[in-house]
Amino acid sequence: MLTSYFPTSYLDYNLPANRESYEAALKKMRARLGQSHGLYIDGRWVTTPKTFNSVNPANKSEVIGTFASGTVEHVEQAVAAAVKAFPSWAALPVEERAFLILRAARLMKERRNEFSALMTLEVGKNWNEADADTAEAIDFLEFYAREAIRLQGAEHAVTPYPGENNGVRYMPLGVGAVIPPWNFPLAICVGMTTAALVTGNPVVLKPASDTPMIALAFVELLIECGIPAGVINFLTGSGGAIGDPLVEHKEVRFISFTGSRDVGVAMNAKAAKVQPGQKWLKRVVAEMGGKDAIVVDDSWTDLDDAAAGIVQSAFGFQGQKCSACSRLILTPKNREALIKRIVERIGKIVMGPTEQFGNWLGPVSSAHAFKKISEYIEIGKKEGKLLTGGTTDDSQGFFIRPTIFDSIAPGARLAQEEIFGPVLAIIHAADFNDALAIANNTDYGLTGALYSLDRTHLARARTEFQVGNLYLNRKCTGALVDVQPFGGFNMSGTDSKAGGRDYLLLFTQAKSVTERF
Ligand code: NAP
Repeated sequence: MLTSYFPTSYLDYNLPANRESYEAALKKMRARLGQSHGLYIDGRWVTTPKTFNSVNPANKSEVIGTFASGTVEHVEQAVAAAVKAFPSWAALPVEERAFLILRAARLMKERRNEFSALMTLEVGKNWNEADADTAEAIDFLEFYAREAIRLQGAEHAVTPYPGENNGVRYMPLGVGAVIPPWNFPLAICVGMTTAALVTGNPVVLKPASDTPMIALAFVELLIECGIPAGVINFLTGSGGAIGDPLVEHKEVRFISFTGSRDVGVAMNAKAAKVQPGQKWLKRVVAEMGGKDAIVVDDSWTDLDDAAAGIVQSAFGFQGQKCSACSRLILTPKNREALIKRIVERIGKIVMGPTEQFGNWLGPVSSAHAFKKISEYIEIGKKEGKLLTGGTTDDSQGFFIRPTIFDSIAPGARLAQEEIFGPVLAIIHAADFNDALAIANNTDYGLTGALYSLDRTHLARARTEFQVGNLYLNRKCTGALVDVQPFGGFNMSGTDSKAGGRDYLLLFTQAKSVTERF
């Protein structure tokens, strides 16, 4: 009998035992660095002549691993392997697939700090952020395994006529292309992959090129748990080179993508084109970007609490969460006092390589991200008033101080475009009506928060704040599986909810069967 799901609690690294365990995990993972890794196709490791390196963003001369650059031929082989594996994987009782996933959850729990340490090294997460990512990955494994069993058991049966039996069951779709981003390199990769697998679909997983090592650790875990050949295929390589042929492949039935708006929109268009010999319209589940706002209205009194939530939302993991607050919308009464408290808090943030526990703010993910964010900082200097930060340093790693611009116009680039880094735009609103209109004035609709003691404002936000994840009187990051199902409105995605009770339906099709007897 399965126990019910409950979110994993976070580790407290102020406790010496947890601290020692993380340090030991960092040491163990560091010993794995610098090796070469192949593709995994049809149960075999495959090397390629062309390779690329994943590097430590806190120390760009340190190679995390050398990875195979897949080609169109590898896409063909991986899809063919998945097609071959589909019938037997789909025919397994759901419990067998779910138990494999639960085994992976158990092993990930046992090696929790090792997975987290890898994220510290490959993408610069501080210990608490990395631990939250691993905890979420464990939650996805635990939750989707149970959900798959529930979905199967939920066979709907109504029998209005004597002598007739009716039922609806949920069948897998077919081969899935799973394409995750680098920013939750474990949790999102695990969640997207597991949802497809546990419902009976074989997968070709193309990880983000900045974090192949963490994705590899998960694939190795699935192999250790006994996943059959061809059910998981692991293709590293650039999105442009292997992403397009994978998305366009006629045997691919669905695409599960999380990433930027531009890539998601282009992918959606490519997937919509029916290829010669293709027998279905591809389903695209796309989770995309955000331009998330926090509003603090005049009624709010605990400014320290709001400042803490804002700093955590805007600068946690260097502002590289899709849920991160990148717009702070303030009405007149609290504005100056709140800004003062936020700037004071930022002054206390310690930045540096996150391998050291005391460094709260780490590097941004890559040279590409560093360049893009630096360019937005220059734009911000023209569009608003620099309040704090604005300094960058890529001599060793990709470090950018938390940066805030005041008096940004609602239509300015800093208020409209996703920067995906530690840059916050403060926008002045005349009153709550104005603040809500500004909050809704982008193409996105992912997360948002309102700090207010006014019940009418809170009620209006519930209905009028156009976001998929709304938080009242708290930070706008940190969604938990099954507690805050995650996914946005408008250009933030295709209206799916990761970690929600209807998510697995996206990887199935319903079949109604009637029998007269
Ligand atoms: P990205 O550049 O769009 O890349 C996402 C994934 O798509 C990567 O694996 C990438 O591979 C791949 N890709 C790129 N071009 C492709 C193509 N032509 N065909 C197929 N695949 C292709 O996004 P990112 O920088 O990794 O992630 C950050 C973005 O993700 C932000 O916009 C953030 O808001 C969003 N995000 C959204 C959510 C959500 O739930 N809504 C959650 C997390 C992140 P390469 O790495 O090889 O280019």
